[in-house]
Amino acid sequence: MKFMLLAAALVMSQAEETPRIDIEPVADGVWRHVSFQDLGGAAPTPSNGLVIETPVGLVLVDTAWGEAETRQLLAVIERQFGQRVIAAIVTHAHEDRIGGADVLAAADIPVYATPEINAAARERGLPEAAHALGEGLPPALMVAGLSWLAVEGGHARENIVVYHAPSRTLFGGCFIRPLEYRGVGYVEDGDVPAWPAALERARAAYLEAVHVVPGHGQVGGPELITHTIEQVEAALEEN
Ligand SMILES: [Zn+2]
Repeated sequence: MKFMLLAAALVMSQAEETPRIDIEPVADGVWRHVSFQDLGGAAPTPSNGLVIETPVGLVLVDTAWGEAETRQLLAVIERQFGQRVIAAIVTHAHEDRIGGADVLAAADIPVYATPEINAAARERGLPEAAHALGEGLPPALMVAGLSWLAVEGGHARENIVVYHAPSRTLFGGCFIRPLEYRGVGYVEDGDVPAWPAALERARAAYLEAVHVVPGHGQVGGPELITHTIEQVEAALEEN
């Protein structure tokens, strides 16, 4: 009997496999969280968000890619940092950015997004953020050196970028393509012709950025902005 119960428990734990979450340092006080989804490729596709240490607690940029993944992200953060996540900022309305918004809300973590991101989430049947990013961020987050910019064009029409001044880290999300990816990726909800000018706007707004984090793939520097412009211009020439 004991053996059978043990066997049943083993089968159950295999069925509810724990999603893989990686936490990797980006800069002083900044880490990227990486979650994975199987899109049918040779290996699962990774997705980046950020964990930022501030004087008032940890701030997330983007949820993990899915609900189970976001639940696991919170568990990993609790184990590794022993600190509370006090807020999350979402950078556009796709599953890999906002998919875990309800999980964060259920854990009493306020999730912030612009009205444009929430409107797009509603349209796409995704969870929304309960807190609006208006003119600025909540004061505690601004004091921590965080800011954001609606770039108006690119991977998704509503995408924003987030900047952390103390570590000079620019989180571009899917608005920025990593060096190892060719092409522009999924742009069904995007504005490709407006993308190069939007990239120049982001570059001009955050000239002092040293670390640039794309939505997927490896972290780099401002050369990722140039690389993305090249990829977008090549795609525009093809069409
Ligand atoms: Zn996206």
